[in-house]
Amino acid sequence: MHLVFVPQIFISHFHGDHSLGMTYYIAHRNLAKLETGKIYVPASALDAAHALIRSQAALEQARRDYELIPVEPGMMVDFKRQMQMRIFGTDHRIPSVGFEVIETRSKLKPEYVGLNQQEIVALKRAGKEIVYPVSMSRMAYVGDSTIKVFEWHPEIMETEILITECTFLADDHYEEAHKRKHIHLRDLVNYLPYIRSEYIVLMHFSMRYTRQEIKYHIQRLIPAEYRERILLLI
Ligand SMILES: [Zn+2]
Ligand SMILES: [Zn+2]
Repeated sequence: MHLVFVPQIFISHFHGDHSLGMTYYIAHRNLAKLETGKIYVPASALDAAHALIRSQAALEQARRDYELIPVEPGMMVDFKRQMQMRIFGTDHRIPSVGFEVIETRSKLKPEYVGLNQQEIVALKRAGKEIVYPVSMSRMAYVGDSTIKVFEWHPEIMETEILITECTFLADDHYEEAHKRKHIHLRDLVNYLPYIRSEYIVLMHFSMRYTRQEIKYHIQRLIPAEYRERILLLI
């Protein structure tokens, strides 16, 4: 599915590689006469994001229908039935957030397990609360950050699918990772024993690495026991 048809977009921060699609998204939803797209942005970027959209609209001499919703670390956003987005802060050069998808389902209380349909209906009619909510972390997306994000938010290591940046790979680039506030694979490897996710998706590799170099460094630095859970977005 083309991203323009996704009704809600979450933007982690406003570096161009994460945000320049925003005005395109708005313009094409308008053109296709789709319902207003909801765009969640870090609260500190709200005014500048409005200005960016207005400038683009002025250049195109067009009217734009869109909705920007400010988010801050610690917030929970209901974005779909039984689905919530938890916003967490990341450590980057400009204000930046990550997102965790949490699904909440109703589960039958243990004391009622084994009852038949009629008995359950009777309990409901009597006004008994027979279910309780169970939350599951389905996915976490780190966006851009240093390795500190795992120290600050260890709960993201329990999610089912962890998607994280891993910009730098070569030993020569270790200092640069700290300076530019990105993750170096060497630091991520230290956290692998604690990450319980079924899949760990690595992405956002520096453009200076070829596909072969990325694979080479993954083989070189990630112990074999973790490799089958690692997916590369390259
Ligand atoms: Zn960035
Ligand atoms: Zn980036």
